Amino acid sequence: MNERHTRQRLVAGNWKMNGNLGDNARLLEGITANWSGAEQVKAVICPPFVYLPQVAKAIAGSAIELGAQTVSEYKPGACTGEVAAEMLADWQCRYVIVGHSERRRLQGETDAQVAEKFHAAQEAGLIPILCLGESEQERDAGLALKTIGHQLSVVVERVGIDAFAKAVVAYEPVWAVGTGKVASPEQAEEVHRFIRAELGELGPSTQILYGGSVKPGNAKQLFALPDIDGALLGGASLSAEDFVAICEAAA
Ligand code: PEP
Repeated sequence: MNERHTRQRLVAGNWKMNGNLGDNARLLEGITANWSGAEQVKAVICPPFVYLPQVAKAIAGSAIELGAQTVSEYKPGACTGEVAAEMLADWQCRYVIVGHSERRRLQGETDAQVAEKFHAAQEAGLIPILCLGESEQERDAGLALKTIGHQLSVVVERVGIDAFAKAVVAYEPVWAVGTGKVASPEQAEEVHRFIRAELGELGPSTQILYGGSVKPGNAKQLFALPDIDGALLGGASLSAEDFVAICEAAA
């Protein structure tokens, strides 16, 4: 059974490596002044680590929640330059993105590492947003579902399927992230349905987001699909107008 009616929607903004104190203040003011929340929608902002305190302060008492863009797989200790899940929890982070395609590509994060990060996040009480997605070559070769299935299975083997009761999945086709290309409704829906099936009994209740060039102009069409529960935004999260418009489209 599809529990679409019981799954809350989630719109998460990944600022990536963008922002400065002044621009962030203006962006946050624009968002908090124009989005007062909706029963069926949660909105989350994931800034760079150094701006977590600024964002935490600006969204206090608002309808926005805090997230981070990645997390160390290690416990606090001798791990120069990394940020532990416990530290994110200290700043009232509720969510953390793991396995974003830019980190897989630029930092060489492996499926096994992503699984460890997922585990570390949950151990600290955070909700991981697990990104899965195929490259253009994999899609062209007919390997999209196989790739996504493998990425997911490595995490399931590490943490067990029940761990997905407290996790979010984001389907982000690599060829659509930051490119302006968007998966067609058929492509997105096929993958979302596949992920839901792979999650077995937890499939119907797990939030599965779509990410990849979501904008105010295409959000409504994507959110109308039965297996899409919201969006992970990159570029659109840097504009208060666009971010709020997409939250409204989800509501
Ligand atoms: C992302 O960074 O996760 C993303 C989906 O980026 P964009 O919306 O810019 O494609």
